[in-house]
Amino acid sequence: MRKITLKHTPPPALARQLADDLNASQREAATAPDGYNLILAGPGSGKTRVITYRVAWLIARGIPAESILLVTFTRRAAREMVGRLGGLVGHEAGRVWAGTFHHVGNRLLRRSAKELGFEPNFTILDGEDQTDLIRLAMDDAGLASKDKLAPKPSQIQHLISFAVNTRKTIEDVIAETAGNLIVWTDHVRGVAEAYAARKRASNCMDYDDLLVLWLKLLNEHPARLAEQGKMFRHILVDEMQDTNALQIEVVEKIAAAGAGNLTAVGDDAQSIYRFRGADYDNILKFPDRHAGSRIFRLDVNYRSTPQIVALTQASITHNKSGFPKQLVSARTDGLKPAVVATADVYEEADLVCQQIMESRDRGIPLTETAVLYRNHYDSVVLQGELLARGIPYNVRSGIRFFEQAHVKDVLAFLRVVLNPRDEASWRRLLLLLPGIGPAKAGAVYRKLAASGDPFSAVVAAETMATVPAKSRGMFAAFVNDLNLIRVTDPENRPAAAIQAVLAGGYPAVIRQRYDKPDNRIKDVEQFAVLAAKYESLERLVADLMLAGDLYGVESSGGEEPEDLLVLSSVHQAKGLEWSQVFVIRLVDDGFPNRRAVDEPGGEEEERRIFYVAVSRAKDELMLTYPSTVSRGYGPTTFSTPSRFITEIDRDLYERAELEHEFEEFEIPVPKEADAVMPGLLEEAKKKREAK
Ligand code: ATP
Ligand code: MG
Repeated sequence: MRKITLKHTPPPALARQLADDLNASQREAATAPDGYNLILAGPGSGKTRVITYRVAWLIARGIPAESILLVTFTRRAAREMVGRLGGLVGHEAGRVWAGTFHHVGNRLLRRSAKELGFEPNFTILDGEDQTDLIRLAMDDAGLASKDKLAPKPSQIQHLISFAVNTRKTIEDVIAETAGNLIVWTDHVRGVAEAYAARKRASNCMDYDDLLVLWLKLLNEHPARLAEQGKMFRHILVDEMQDTNALQIEVVEKIAAAGAGNLTAVGDDAQSIYRFRGADYDNILKFPDRHAGSRIFRLDVNYRSTPQIVALTQASITHNKSGFPKQLVSARTDGLKPAVVATADVYEEADLVCQQIMESRDRGIPLTETAVLYRNHYDSVVLQGELLARGIPYNVRSGIRFFEQAHVKDVLAFLRVVLNPRDEASWRRLLLLLPGIGPAKAGAVYRKLAASGDPFSAVVAAETMATVPAKSRGMFAAFVNDLNLIRVTDPENRPAAAIQAVLAGGYPAVIRQRYDKPDNRIKDVEQFAVLAAKYESLERLVADLMLAGDLYGVESSGGEEPEDLLVLSSVHQAKGLEWSQVFVIRLVDDGFPNRRAVDEPGGEEEERRIFYVAVSRAKDELMLTYPSTVSRGYGPTTFSTPSRFITEIDRDLYERAELEHEFEEFEIPVPKEADAVMPGLLEEAKKKREAK
């Protein structure tokens, strides 16, 4: 047979881009030969750019786009990368297998679900579904979820997940991370088994299953392993430092079964997902696992000004572990990062809002600005201020504060106190009680509504009769809580009312019903802090309701403004960059997180988080902390600035002092009616004297 050769010339534009857009070491890494390649470099050095160009380069050399697997850690980072790739190779970008590990796992498992005992239409459980299922599994395993001493559903959920992600046994995980629960080890193992059985029976997978079952498929079905090895001729992993044992095993197994082409990119100093089982050793030991692998280093930072790079570098040198890297900024000089102490959290929110508005006037769009914080609840007071000023924002660290279930619950308590006929709020609260479903809640509400005084009616025997016998104790406690909220003088002291919600049975409801209960309770505490700024409960509730956040008012109708400020936890900000970055709440038991610091290696992990935060800034960086903190009630205490600020050389930042300027305000000329006042006063005086 005659052979005809078809020649493919690489697109000239791409060749040009490889030459123009990358420096020599970046180009070398992007065009590295097949095999195992590791790119280990600091923030802003173009790692993500290199990996994206490498994919484009592979496609240009004739590797079919659909045989390339490009994985990264967060959904946002994945989207960003595919976007950048689209700019280089056009529509081909859409054919690359790109996404998070979970995303790719999900796609692959749909094809092979049957082999694993699932149907292809399996459902994915979210955090809350998981907690519900764990609670049922606790009953199956004879561990009463109501037992006060027993581990909480959310704790068990975390232990199971951590064990899965670190490839350790439940025994080891409990022994290493939760010594106080050792006596419950057998029970927890039993719950894990019952939980797995329930998931299978209901054809559901949780997020971890998308990885665990993927690996199981590879381990137990050699044909699938071979198939995936053939499918993915090139595997590229961004943010490798945050992969856990499970993810590493999956990609390395596929690479080994296939063409053996794996390019990993990352920065050990940016490893911040230890709580999910990430281990930066995974990246540092890459060369040990793959003899003959090539290592590339990049040492020019294209993102940040020299001043920001200097502060970033100075911070990370305080970590003993890790691989030392030097970075030089490619940019021209900018401003030194600023550190500002504010009087309290309200002034901090004020400052950030004002700075943002001034920057916007200078032409920096809101989308080019981010406010980063260590904990999601650190953003609550700021969100209140942004709402009050009408500055549009987007929260990346989770659901917008006022849309979260537990915040709506607390609001329902407040709304009922304000308006005892508020049906939606009564229903919401009644449904929180065990044994009360929609029908019963409706019956109770009808009794209340029919009465002239709903609060008296709620305790009346008639109402009690509509509540199922076994729920009466809880119901009585709930009514008692409501009354305690009512006596706090909620109208004038909204913070005290929220505090009363926290002092009652509601925290137990949070622990029972929701995942991440501790964070949610912290949220409610911050809600009280926000409320302390309001003189009236009515104003607080009205402001929140009118902000259009609640009950989906905004999402169902109005258009989202395009120019949105970004609010994000540092964890969600990985890999991203903004012209202007604020890092707020830099107090010593907030950032670093107090609990994390007590764990071995915790301080270094927290410092890596700080390092990720400050290295997101391109042009301007402002670090703020409130000098005093309060919980919205009780005493205000002085705070200590974060060690991550105080340990840095003073020359590397500028301390900015706040000056208070009060705008001139003119008292308008009195109205005519006021003008007669002096005359009236005179008259009254005369009358008094006459008496
Ligand atoms: P991180 O560790 O934060 O994920 P990174 O190493 O992945 O950072 P990139 O996001 O790829 O860094 O690059 C940082 C910024 O520098 C981006 O805006 C990128 O477009 C730009 N950049 C990278 N390399 C170059 C270059 N050679 N010339 C100009 N700009 C560059
Ligand atoms: Mg990156």
